[in-house]
Amino acid sequence: MYHEDRNRHSFDFSADVRALRVMKPLVVAADMYGCPNRCLHCWLGHMPSRVMESGADSWIVDKFRPYFDKITFFSWLREPDFCPDYRARWERDKALCVNAVPPRFELASFWRLARESEYAAFLKQAGVGCVQLTFFGGEQTTDKYVGRKGAFKELLKATDVLLEHGISPRWQAFINEENKGEIAYLLSLSEELELKRRAEAFKGVFRFFVHAGSCDGENQKLYGIRICRQHIPRELIPYYLDYDKLFTERELCKMWAREQTPVLPHNENEIVIYVSNTYDLFFNFTHMRPEWRIGNLKTDPIGELVRRIVQEDIPALRKARDITLGELTRRYGDPCSDRVFEPEDYRMYLLNRHLA
Ligand code: SF4
Repeated sequence: MYHEDRNRHSFDFSADVRALRVMKPLVVAADMYGCPNRCLHCWLGHMPSRVMESGADSWIVDKFRPYFDKITFFSWLREPDFCPDYRARWERDKALCVNAVPPRFELASFWRLARESEYAAFLKQAGVGCVQLTFFGGEQTTDKYVGRKGAFKELLKATDVLLEHGISPRWQAFINEENKGEIAYLLSLSEELELKRRAEAFKGVFRFFVHAGSCDGENQKLYGIRICRQHIPRELIPYYLDYDKLFTERELCKMWAREQTPVLPHNENEIVIYVSNTYDLFFNFTHMRPEWRIGNLKTDPIGELVRRIVQEDIPALRKARDITLGELTRRYGDPCSDRVFEPEDYRMYLLNRHLA
């Protein structure tokens, strides 16, 4: 009886949705190939890598097609182009989109850049003008944080390959209490390698920036060594991303102690959905943990899944509605901590502490 009622409800809703169509565009990113890395800061959280079965891509898009007028499809949500036939893959991603053209982001597989120079030529043809590469310090530290021996050398090789193909490299460095001294070394290394001059030779730009990242997924486990404001090396402040918008945990706890609103992430102009390699669906608000799961594309009726997506009706958000930011701060914040956060990241950290 329960199932009958539930199914009828789902059916009715899906009919409504079909009649009305969902006005917001949909972006679907499926984890079709996984990732060669296991970064200690990975905000998505670590998941096993596996290749999804052939035809999974069009099957996923077809599920959503009756409900959305505009669908942008990506076959990756971790390492881009981490499949041998990346050229054909890119064409297929474009072909699967509905009334949309997928953008190329300033992201690429450094794993592949270090192995196949032909890949950089493909990026150039695809219109990629800049690629971000992520460091955590010197060789030993970067290898440790990427979770793979050789990662640091690959990042340097990828930098050279990009420059040779007229693509600007952008170095991103994640800083914490453990590696803060080594991040300053990266800055001097970039000068030693003359990256600015080499990029300017083809009218490109080399950029270097530092930040601490969010505090969810694997990065939540690094809370204990999150950088404190007074420990950010002075020479890195000009390179620190949005330094003026940083707060210490102490400041945020004080600011929000009486805040009565809940922490409710929300899809504004478009809906972004992640599809795990086992067909679980998630919003792109934070890590892909069970409490944030929307449902499963194989086992839940699509009408019901679309209802949950449109109404943002999932366990984490239901629980989030019942607690204010002030209460979260009082329960989980440390009013004596000088760890730095951007306000949005700290809100999500507090909420995830509550949901854990
Ligand atoms: S941060 Fe990116 S590259 Fe690193 S493990 Fe996560 S998805 Fe892979």
